[in-house]
Amino acid sequence: MRFLSANYIFPISSAPIPNGILVISDDGTVQDLLPAESSLVPNKSLIERFDGIICPGFINAHCHLELSHMKGVVSEETGLPNFVMEIVSKRNENADQKHQRIRAADEEMWDNGIQAVGDICNTADTIETKVRSKIKYHSFVEVFSFDSSKADVVLKEGVRVAELYRINELSATIVPHAPYSVSEVLFRGIEEQQSRFPGTISMHNQETESEDEMFVSGSGDLVELFKKFGEDFSNFQPNFSSSLDYAFGYLPQNQNIILVHNTQTSQQEQAGIDSKRSDVYWCTCPHANKYIENQLPNIPTWIENKSKICVGTDSLASNHGLSILEELKLIQENYPQIELPQLLEFATLNGAKALKLEKVMGSLEKGKKPGILLLQNLKELKLNLNASVLRIV
Ligand SMILES: [Zn+2]
Repeated sequence: MRFLSANYIFPISSAPIPNGILVISDDGTVQDLLPAESSLVPNKSLIERFDGIICPGFINAHCHLELSHMKGVVSEETGLPNFVMEIVSKRNENADQKHQRIRAADEEMWDNGIQAVGDICNTADTIETKVRSKIKYHSFVEVFSFDSSKADVVLKEGVRVAELYRINELSATIVPHAPYSVSEVLFRGIEEQQSRFPGTISMHNQETESEDEMFVSGSGDLVELFKKFGEDFSNFQPNFSSSLDYAFGYLPQNQNIILVHNTQTSQQEQAGIDSKRSDVYWCTCPHANKYIENQLPNIPTWIENKSKICVGTDSLASNHGLSILEELKLIQENYPQIELPQLLEFATLNGAKALKLEKVMGSLEKGKKPGILLLQNLKELKLNLNASVLRIV
């Protein structure tokens, strides 16, 4: 048994406890949460005292571990169409270091306090690392093709890759890449896979202006990009109010949906989606948004909408590190009005709920084994640039 105390304990599921005491078993399971000076501690000398805030481990709701070898390869702030182009053309750079980079990224996330990851995969490259990792992974096997005639082939390959994860006892679901890259036929195939292997769905959403443009007017940078890849748009009839308007009706019902990025989603559209379904999670990856498009989502309007918000790092192809704390610091820097308890809820319990892991992690509640972090160097409960994280458990 260990008795951990700090200036504050943030259980997330309940109010912060000043100078509280967190009781955990040797394997890290939460046993109790006690107020300061509790008489239930058998001997005061047993208390391990820390300077800072104790909170549960972070949940990274969006990553692409398999792109870890692409750190620093893609140019910054050139916009999503160019980013996609570079990812496709440079994916094999440093490929000989792929497995080593994947392992290193997994360790980096663990050291940065990340307990679970919703990880996008196009290949089986990350299985070896995930099987051995201390981090809990859910793998989103991503499929894409806007060309209906390719739906069968693309889906078959996705099913093959997802099988490889599952036979290694790793949870996996087949998910759409983004509205602009998935045909109606492919969406139907994904829905059919959900009925056989149900689980959370993730989809990139409204990351760049030309996404909506494609579905409203049938033109724009993304359409031009796909034409370069040989896609045929001659029969495409856009009559939608947005790209999400096109895709939303195809997303499986009765299943958690994580929409990733949402930098271009209007407050009104977001509120409309939330009014239709209560299982939609809005994931922000602010460092990647800066890297790719040099913009940030309007998170205060997400909060006004009372949307369920979670946080992701995206991949090392579009980020300089894999740290949820660094994502929170960027949000705090741009939106200083957001309070710490709310930021931490995005980064822990909301992500755990999105990935359906809230029974075991995401908050400091009895019986959970959430990982225990110490946040240090904060200034009056604000995440200033010096803030850092130390993993206790
Ligand atoms: Zn992504």
